[in-house]
Amino acid sequence: MIYKAFQDLKLSALGMGCMRLPVVDGKDDQVNQAAVEEMVAYAMSHGVNYYDTAWGYHSGNSELAIGKALVAYPRESFYLADKFPGYDLSNMDKVAEIFEAQLKKCQVEYFDFYLFHNVCEMNIDAYLDPKYGILDYLLEQKKNGRIKHLGFSCHGAMPVLKRFLEAYGAHMEFCQLQLNYVDWTFQGCKEKVELLEEYHIPVWVMEPLRGGRLARLTEGEGAVLKELRPQESIPAWAFRFLQTIPSVVVTLSGMSDLEQTKANLETFSTEAPLSDMEWEAVLALGRRMTGPAALACTACRYCVSHCPQGLDIPDLLALYNEHRFTGGGFIAPMALSAIPKEKQPSACIGCRSCEAVCPQQLKISEAMADFTARLK
Ligand code: SF4
Ligand code: SF4
Repeated sequence: MIYKAFQDLKLSALGMGCMRLPVVDGKDDQVNQAAVEEMVAYAMSHGVNYYDTAWGYHSGNSELAIGKALVAYPRESFYLADKFPGYDLSNMDKVAEIFEAQLKKCQVEYFDFYLFHNVCEMNIDAYLDPKYGILDYLLEQKKNGRIKHLGFSCHGAMPVLKRFLEAYGAHMEFCQLQLNYVDWTFQGCKEKVELLEEYHIPVWVMEPLRGGRLARLTEGEGAVLKELRPQESIPAWAFRFLQTIPSVVVTLSGMSDLEQTKANLETFSTEAPLSDMEWEAVLALGRRMTGPAALACTACRYCVSHCPQGLDIPDLLALYNEHRFTGGGFIAPMALSAIPKEKQPSACIGCRSCEAVCPQQLKISEAMADFTARLK
């Protein structure tokens, strides 16, 4: 196992994400405890010391399952991460109640890492609202030794990340981002990583395989990679990409069975960052994968002042691209839920004033209509 330095700790570069644990009869809320314990035993014996759970994973049963699995090991032999579930606004005034329950569910006295979960367009106002006192409460727990390191995960676009960092950046020790060779350009991750570097905040990676898509390349997609490194497995390329980014410390992989656990551990037994040529090749592949579906909006914003409906066209197109490439998913609906009805894609009246000034000649009105239909 490769280890990465974080302050005075040595963290395994691969962390076990507990959002896709093995389940019984395909039921997401019924975690297969015996299988989890087998995976944890394998991971622990092969050097994985980072485990990441959350209030909402497996309908609340992920915390119970990983707590039960880890209680067999000395507390100082693993690092456990949990998160405050602010993706649900009804939780905002329950930080103390939820935090206490999480400690009990996980059978621990403290969390090594604790995160504001999923900072995004929908919850940024509430997360920053002093009336909920979430930051103050978590800082208090840190002072009491019940949180060792405080951070946040973020699915929001760049303006949200900037706002959160301007307000809370001084208190944040790490940031968990969806990061992979597709999203490096597709979701603007390059700029996000650079901004975090300005704050000296290291990156924890989630969705390294983009929900498994990067482990299942077509023969055509994978051919160029096979030529460059015949011995490397297809999923390993996604991890090698991350090993090339200096500020990445922990990469979380949501492991669903022992075979995946073994394969991931094999990849992380060696550090093999990409050469410049390999780096360009995976980014080109990422662009090719999103290319046919994506509208190439450069966010120049020329169109915005021409829209009689006042729509934020580039932001909506970015969400449209995300929604199409992912085949749905939660990110676009979540971001749209924070936008008033009169600013949604459905508010487009098809006047095409925007198209008259778009230097990329994008068919914006068609995209808005298609997005509206897809969201129904
Ligand atoms: S076509 Fe739609 S998005 Fe474009 S300017 Fe008209 S209302 Fe706005
Ligand atoms: S003018 Fe075209 S490229 Fe520029 S922001 Fe609008 S849609 Fe995007």
